[in-house]
Amino acid sequence: VIEKVRLNLNLPNNSEKQEKVRDVLGQFFLTQTTMEQIMLVMETEMRLGLSRNPEDRKKSSLQMENTFVHETINGTENGDFLALDLGGTNYRVIYMEMREGKKTKEIMQHYVIPDPILTGTGVSLFDYLADSIAKLLHTENIKSATPIPLGFTFSFPMIQSSLRNALLLTWTKKFKCTDTVMQDVVKMLEAAIERRKDINIEVVAILNDAVGTLMTGAYEDRACGIGLILGTGCNASYMEHLERVEKWEGNTKEEKEEIIDIEWGAFGDNGVLDFFKTQYDFEVDRLSNHKGSFTFEKLFAGLYLGEIVRLVLSDLVSKDLLFADLDESKVEWVHWKGSFTTGHVSKVESDFTDTKAIEVLEELGTSPASAEDVSVLRYACAIVSNRAAKIIVSALTVLLRHIQKDEVTIAVDGSLFSYHPTLRGQMEELIAYTAPETKTKFIEVKDGSGMGAAYVAAVAHRIEQKKNM
Ligand code: BGC
Ligand code: MG
Repeated sequence: VIEKVRLNLNLPNNSEKQEKVRDVLGQFFLTQTTMEQIMLVMETEMRLGLSRNPEDRKKSSLQMENTFVHETINGTENGDFLALDLGGTNYRVIYMEMREGKKTKEIMQHYVIPDPILTGTGVSLFDYLADSIAKLLHTENIKSATPIPLGFTFSFPMIQSSLRNALLLTWTKKFKCTDTVMQDVVKMLEAAIERRKDINIEVVAILNDAVGTLMTGAYEDRACGIGLILGTGCNASYMEHLERVEKWEGNTKEEKEEIIDIEWGAFGDNGVLDFFKTQYDFEVDRLSNHKGSFTFEKLFAGLYLGEIVRLVLSDLVSKDLLFADLDESKVEWVHWKGSFTTGHVSKVESDFTDTKAIEVLEELGTSPASAEDVSVLRYACAIVSNRAAKIIVSALTVLLRHIQKDEVTIAVDGSLFSYHPTLRGQMEELIAYTAPETKTKFIEVKDGSGMGAAYVAAVAHRIEQKKNM
């Protein structure tokens, strides 16, 4: 499975050109040995991240953050809830009614956050969020005498000190708002709600999207033990025994388990993954919004996959190994950041013939491309996607071995997983091979990251009510 590369280069056999193209693209081919090295490194980093000793923890690039989420839906939750999902391509506001742990009503409104807000002030971002809540309540004519409990999926690294207290550690992906880093995210949302005075809400929980995805997965499938985000960014969470969380300082009598937000987007920020990074990966980082960080995510997540392929193509063009017969004006885009997207990769990969690849090149103004050029493009997309599958599976394998259950369902949310045509199949094939001791199943939970916030709010509400009884 691992050694199989799905496409052959359609270049004259053993030609000098074929050799050179192979030299460039071959760097993305991960062997079984490399995968095992990634696994070894990750095991160590996980252990350090969970350790009691703060000095050891600092050595790890895995934050292994406490989430204060100890339980999933158990079938006794009742009430009406709100949820927000902020962090990726889409922003969502959700209203959910739940009776005896079953969702009886769901309303979801989608937004694409305008660029000026993504990089504007914190106040304008949180006002935008409060505004969208008011809109939902207004358009759906939802009124409540008591404050509606709200769960907030906030898909960025946080330092969490309770279910509703979390400091924003750093922005990632396309976000970069001022006056927000190391501030309490819930307080910033509450302040925006306060500024409006027309909505009656209580923020009861803040969580990461990987955690929300796991909650939704567990609602749909009891065997769910991992939440995975493969979207603009990448992350995972899993249900951990508290006794294995050395750094946990709370009660372990009442609570037995906790969801850990691994924050593996930053895996390798301390250099532990440099051994297999290519010059193109270093270049992606150099050109990115948040330089020197989010190493793991930049190897394959949706915001970067297309850019990696572009940088490879750009290098091949400079070396006269690609589009050599075409007028320069037709291939200029290869030198422009962001011109080749993950959507383009998905399109090329959706076809076992050349048709889609030719279409993509035409969209970009590159035609007529030779059959050789088309095959190089297809090979580049295939090998970079294949590497993505192998990297993700290496990390998941470490988790599965750590969890040690016979059966584990992995809930996945995110645009990369939904739209990339071959990624899921490759992951399924690979994981059966790398983690044969666990029966592993992937389920797609579309919008699960946001729904999960409503579930966390429902569980928190249930626990709170029980306390008051
Ligand atoms: C963030 C994570 C998030 C992931 C997926 C990363 O950039 O650091 O917190 O879960 O993206 O959205
Ligand atoms: Mg998302």
